Amino acid sequence: KPVLLSGIQPSGQLTLGNYIGAIRNWVDLQADYDCIFLLVDLHAITVRQDPAVLRQRCRDFLSLYIACGIDPEKNLLCAQSHVAGHSQLAWILDCYTMVGELNRMTQFKDKSAKHADNINAGLYNYPVLMAADILIYDTQLVPVGNDQKQHLELARDVAQRFNFAHKEEVFRIPEPFIPPVGARIMGLQNPEAKMSKSDDNEGNGIYLLDEPKKIAKKIKRAVTDSGSEVRAADDKPGVTNLLNIMAAVTGRSIEDLEADYGDSGYGRFKGDVADAVVAFMEPMQARYRALQDDPAYLDGILARSAEQANARADQKIRQVYDKLGFLPRA
Ligand code: ATP
Ligand code: MG
Repeated sequence: KPVLLSGIQPSGQLTLGNYIGAIRNWVDLQADYDCIFLLVDLHAITVRQDPAVLRQRCRDFLSLYIACGIDPEKNLLCAQSHVAGHSQLAWILDCYTMVGELNRMTQFKDKSAKHADNINAGLYNYPVLMAADILIYDTQLVPVGNDQKQHLELARDVAQRFNFAHKEEVFRIPEPFIPPVGARIMGLQNPEAKMSKSDDNEGNGIYLLDEPKKIAKKIKRAVTDSGSEVRAADDKPGVTNLLNIMAAVTGRSIEDLEADYGDSGYGRFKGDVADAVVAFMEPMQARYRALQDDPAYLDGILARSAEQANARADQKIRQVYDKLGFLPRA
């Protein structure tokens, strides 16, 4: 099976957008790919984190992935920090990455504008660590959103540069994986901008751990336009977003929903969207809670995944060190 690697930063709180745009795809991919899902905690510390919050958040993310349907028996679910090879390879790749290349990374520019008081070298080197995450497992496919495309491009360039310098295909050149078109979920209060786990406006997002009552309230307060027709259209971003959400959680088509709700007004529609989202959330949250009550089970998953990942990563590190002319390690 082709190796597919994906990671979500444990920052903020997972949203329904993350589920619809990413986690749901992973669930579908796990049968056909050798998947590695990373909790990229090393990446997260490029921005200051409260240690206790970070620890709990990593457990939450792991539990939520499983609660959403990721099978821990079939995939590796790893903490990035549990696999030493990521950091080891990142240093090596640092020496094959040009400062000029990193200077061109738009995410670094954006993030340094946002965190002007903490423009640390980790933030700058972030794409190199990401390249290491990918290359260490001979990853073939990396699902990437727009904001990560440039980073994947860099990973490919650095891999090619290393391979060329050492006249051997030490690193497999990864390809971007464009997942089957899933809707981009927009903010409930501002449907012009996407729902985001690091949004400060709490009413904008539906969080995977929101209580059902809160979810219903947020959906009923969602911004719609002044008309009354339930129809997906460019000039109806709020209604279109709710249609996308309902379609995603029920599996019904937009056309089917439009036919059903067309003229019956926003009230009934919003009520039903809320019910549909809650119907999806309740069993998922119950699974999440059961997992939270069993920390030993979660630790076991992390340990087992880390053991396998370390074995794979170590092999690559040895190959790379050998190519570089480092003395063999017994
Ligand atoms: P942040 O605000 O920290 O960037 P985010 O919600 O944008 O958080 P990311 O970590 O950037 O989340 O992305 C994780 C995954 O979720 C990516 O695959 C991304 O494409 C997907 N994703 C994020 N937000 C949405 C959304 N609103 N709709 C669909 N997919 C989304
Ligand atoms: Mg984002």
